[in-house]
Amino acid sequence: MEQLLPILIQEYNVLKQYAKELYKQTSMHEYTKSFDIFDTAILVSIISVLGLWALRNLRFPNKDYNQSYFEYFKAQIFIFLVNYCPGVNSYIEQQKAIALQSFSSSMEKMTSKKTLKIPENGIDSDTMMDKMNEWIERDSKHNGSGKVSGSLYVMPDKQFIKNAQDFCKHFIYSNPMHADLWPATRQMEAEVIRMTGDLFGQEKEGIGIVTTGGTESIILAMLAYRNWGESQKGINKPNIVIPETAHSAFYRAGEYFKIQVRVAKIDQSSFQVDINDLRAKIDSNTVCIVGSFPNFGYGTSDPIEQLASIAKKKKIGLHVDACLGGFTAVFAKDHGVDLGKFDFTLDGVTSISCDQHKHGLAPKGVSTVLFKTKQLREHAFFSLATWSGGAYAVPSMQGSKCGANVAGAWFTLQSIGKKKYIDYSKKIMDATQSLVKSLSEIPEIKVFGNPQINCVAFMSKETWLNVYAIHEILTHQGWTISSVQKPAGVHISLTLQNIGNLKQYVHDIKAAIEKIKANPKEYKKGGEMGTVYGTTQRIPDSKLANQAIKVYLDSLLKI
Ligand SMILES: *Cc1c(COP(=O)(O)O)cnc(C)c1O
Repeated sequence: MEQLLPILIQEYNVLKQYAKELYKQTSMHEYTKSFDIFDTAILVSIISVLGLWALRNLRFPNKDYNQSYFEYFKAQIFIFLVNYCPGVNSYIEQQKAIALQSFSSSMEKMTSKKTLKIPENGIDSDTMMDKMNEWIERDSKHNGSGKVSGSLYVMPDKQFIKNAQDFCKHFIYSNPMHADLWPATRQMEAEVIRMTGDLFGQEKEGIGIVTTGGTESIILAMLAYRNWGESQKGINKPNIVIPETAHSAFYRAGEYFKIQVRVAKIDQSSFQVDINDLRAKIDSNTVCIVGSFPNFGYGTSDPIEQLASIAKKKKIGLHVDACLGGFTAVFAKDHGVDLGKFDFTLDGVTSISCDQHKHGLAPKGVSTVLFKTKQLREHAFFSLATWSGGAYAVPSMQGSKCGANVAGAWFTLQSIGKKKYIDYSKKIMDATQSLVKSLSEIPEIKVFGNPQINCVAFMSKETWLNVYAIHEILTHQGWTISSVQKPAGVHISLTLQNIGNLKQYVHDIKAAIEKIKANPKEYKKGGEMGTVYGTTQRIPDSKLANQAIKVYLDSLLKI
């Protein structure tokens, strides 16, 4: 450094001298006699280089893609207040403590006879069987109530459920990762992919990965697109463009893999993605776009055919999220309903996620992500040929995994068979139609868009009617349904367990509306859900709002 600096200064002066000579020869000399153009030029170049670098590299650390600059500014002031004003900070901490207290006490109510340590001596099997029955009973309270949204998808058939349990229990110690030890489990896994791919237009060969659930399927697909974009197109700042209604797993993939998530608007009458907004958000760093079939919140499906043609034109991926709808939608044509194309028969669809453990009716912990090509699937695989523990390769996020999950899916697909799936699909889709019709006849509420598959949400049309108050009243009557937001609504995901009970659902909604109408002031805030959403929506910074709801997870994992 000591030697370099004088040399640099010397060089600089030589150059400067030379530049001055040049400068004197130009006509500029006449106008700016005292102006040292060389230093200025150097300064300007340095500033421009720095400016360009800043423009390309400095991103607003907290700015959501969809946040306006005004919202961002507001959030910054809020963060400043939280960080530097002890009063505001302690207020938030206090609110978090109150929330933790309230979540924890509701967990406490569901908890009994806590175990905090492993016993000195193992407990004998009779006692364990008693304990097992106690656990089973506690977990079965909602079974057969017909008042649960989604969650429990299998038909209420005790013998079928027992057969599934009997089948799976032999594979709880097996691990498809070791094909040599468990060749049958390996075969079941490959066959689950083949059978599922067949339903979605993979004619010659199944190309997919078995995962633990829809979330993992989606995360793996996004990983594949990110890696594909990097290796095939040299994209190192990838983004994906998703409808605002896309599942949270896409946002999670963005967080995990540092993919920018660009959120396309939802049309406020059809509740499908606004195609023009989505198209406008695609740029040269976009690796894929997404459509849901249907989405979880509102039950509406995005126009997959239009999305496919955009993806094809732009030479990027299109992921169809059929986690919820897949096993209902693939059989629609077999009972005479045309939902349009949404699978690999549509050029432009490059991956599909589909859950066996939802309307595939399998026991929990199994989903499949399908890919159009093996090359794309390979981008989701992980391998480490040089690992000290030996050459290592796995297809999904897990290392060792349980054979029972895949056995459950294999058992279910085989023992239900196509005819029954068609029948179930018809029952669920008919129930969806009739629920939409009944809800549309209630003047105070409105159904979100035109849900066709297996999930229906409604919102309030009246200012005096807080829709979360309906949710609150129904919850007290034993319903376990979901509240959605943006706009506020209540949704039910139809299953073979609850479709027989929808008349009751509509009746209870009507009664709840009457109750609120009689006393609108009392229900203005919308009960517990209304309060939770009210609080999180008042927090301008999404990171802080997220911190506030993470308090719930603390209580979930606490004993
Ligand atoms: C349930 C669901 C998922 C995620 O599935 P998990 O199995 O809960 O991880 C993804 N997309 C949609 C539309 C869903 O309904």
